[in-house]
Amino acid sequence: MLNDLFLNGAIVIATISLGNQILINKEVNPYSPFKIKLFFSSMSGILGILLMINSVYIMPGVILDYRNIAILLSATYCGFISAIITALFIGIFRLFYTGLTYSSYIGAFVALIIGITCGLVIKLDIKNQLKWIYMSLCILLFPSLAFVLLISNPLLLVRTIAAYWISMSVVSLLVYYYVEYINLSKFTYRKYKYESSTDPRTGLNNVRQFDNELNKIIKELTDHSMISLLFIDIDHFKKVNDLYGHHNGDKVLEDLGRILLSTSKISDIISRNGGEEFSVLMTDCPLDKIYKVAERIRIAVQEHKFYLLNGMPINITISIGVAIYPYTVKDIHEIVQKADSALYEAKRTGRNKVVIAK
Ligand code: GH3
Ligand code: MG
Ligand code: MG
Repeated sequence: MLNDLFLNGAIVIATISLGNQILINKEVNPYSPFKIKLFFSSMSGILGILLMINSVYIMPGVILDYRNIAILLSATYCGFISAIITALFIGIFRLFYTGLTYSSYIGAFVALIIGITCGLVIKLDIKNQLKWIYMSLCILLFPSLAFVLLISNPLLLVRTIAAYWISMSVVSLLVYYYVEYINLSKFTYRKYKYESSTDPRTGLNNVRQFDNELNKIIKELTDHSMISLLFIDIDHFKKVNDLYGHHNGDKVLEDLGRILLSTSKISDIISRNGGEEFSVLMTDCPLDKIYKVAERIRIAVQEHKFYLLNGMPINITISIGVAIYPYTVKDIHEIVQKADSALYEAKRTGRNKVVIAK
């Protein structure tokens, strides 16, 4: 019996690991889109079914397994509705798994009751640890009541309940710590992923992420693609640092990041490519609008009051070099170099202007 229960426990741990890999980039919580919750609760339901298929045989029609852990997981991650969906998966399968008998009715009913109670416990305004304890008690108590109803041999009943309580408590504790560990690793993974792709000063993409995005665009290039790249550089920024100090220079960079975000579309890829150099990469801007967009950004910066740390307003200007594939650049791999040359031209011919690469 213990061997089979161990196998059941191993299925739980393996499924949690696999599910974590599949959903590593997705936010899974009670506020996630319904699609995600449905996927999670269905997967948990399938886990419950797998556990039932590998259950321990007690007596005709009576089986023992950790299927209810799947309901507990569903409730913990996605809330009430998901707990019910998982319980329905398990309940319906249980109903027909060993034929329509008294024990299968009870098994299905227990699954539903556990779904409802776990779903309600997760709504309580208490610590997560306490929620887990209450839910664990539910998945210990309700099946035990079912065993009382189903097993008439007192010795078998005591043995079954004891095996269930001891092994389920251990599995529940293990799963709790494993889920905590997975949540922590997921958080750390996302944190490092964010930090490795984001410029900490402005929150924009950093140059590594800019390269990644550009490579992705290059890979997905079609005959109808039109890619435009705006290279932006603050004019005489060294003077800002020299006159007002580095901290004020930093604040100007942060404010410029915000202006770029507010003057661009959500689909534009905005990056800080280096010190006081920024870029806007556009994949869906019509040819006749590209120059207007660049001019709009230039004018927005020119007219913006940049407040220093002491509240004093200053003005800055920017120069913008633009390269457009397939118009001014025939080879997409040259788009960065062409935009950079156009920016150099804008600097050379007076600054505070937009120059389109030739
Ligand atoms: P140009 O109009 O030719 O671009 O002149 P510029 O002064 O802006 O250009 P230059 O390349 O001579 O100087 C860039 C300056 O940007 C020098 C450097 O101190 C400043 N800078 C780069 N990164 C940062 C940063 O993170 N914070 C601050 N405050 N300044 C930075
Ligand atoms: Mg520069
Ligand atoms: Mg500059």
